[in-house]
Amino acid sequence: MIICKTIEELNQCLSSQAGKRKGFVPTMGALHQGHLSLLQRSKKETDISVVSIFVNPAQFTNSDDLKNYPKTPGIDIKILEKHFCEVLFIPSESVMYPVPDNRTFNFGGFDNILEGRFRPGHFQGVAKIVSKFFGLIKPDKAYFGLKDYQQYIIIKELAKDYFQNIDIIGCPTVREDNGLAMSSRNKLLASEDFNNAGVIYRNLCKASQLINSVQLDKIKALVSSEINAEKNFTVEYIEFVNNDNLNIISTITCEKSVTCCIAVYAGKVRLIDNIQIFL
Ligand code: AMP
Repeated sequence: MIICKTIEELNQCLSSQAGKRKGFVPTMGALHQGHLSLLQRSKKETDISVVSIFVNPAQFTNSDDLKNYPKTPGIDIKILEKHFCEVLFIPSESVMYPVPDNRTFNFGGFDNILEGRFRPGHFQGVAKIVSKFFGLIKPDKAYFGLKDYQQYIIIKELAKDYFQNIDIIGCPTVREDNGLAMSSRNKLLASEDFNNAGVIYRNLCKASQLINSVQLDKIKALVSSEINAEKNFTVEYIEFVNNDNLNIISTITCEKSVTCCIAVYAGKVRLIDNIQIFL
């Protein structure tokens, strides 16, 4: 695996691979099986895979969250080597933001609902870093987890506007045995909370079962009360949205499928998850 820390190193490495199809997997490190599923898909579909590890300050809306975010670069490098990643780009903040990035992206309001409502500016920060990576790496395909469903939709918009040559691939959520969506933030959970966190996905599955027979408001209330009944767990939001445009749905009309998105605090750790429901 070639490890690049600067843009010069990255350019040199990529120019030596000219003509090969590139897959790109952006991450913030503290790697787990969810990240590796993206790498595996990239390895299957392209000639060389570039993984980035960068904890992007621009997308954090809370300085403690940034400070506490798990950082395990030494372990991550070993994991990527073991999984035959070809290129790791692991830049510093000054490499990615040599000057302040004051761009704003217009996502037509996509970025102000759901996660964006509770983390204002988050998706602007995501778009800043992903657009920089896309411009530098020029991948043929880029891989994103459907666990961060809103992010996936927003990146598809970004690609539609600015990076039409990049195929954005959404990959299924990888879960722990108890159903908890894998996440770097899970490392911050108390062990009791980790064990109990299956309550989130269990209730998303319940929402999916009830959707044809119970009103959405009632499902939201039921799911919230079940999760809130678990010690240390508090639902921040739960919404049913249109899969394509993320519009919040209060009554099912002609949709073929919807996504139920949820954010939950387990103690101080914020977890997000979703389930796609076919009607
Ligand atoms: P992160 O390091 O959390 O920014 O995630 C990097 C990429 O991995 C994003 O595209 C995430 O959506 C994806 N990802 C994170 N967790 C999972 C998971 N449990 N299953 C599939 N993809 C994931």
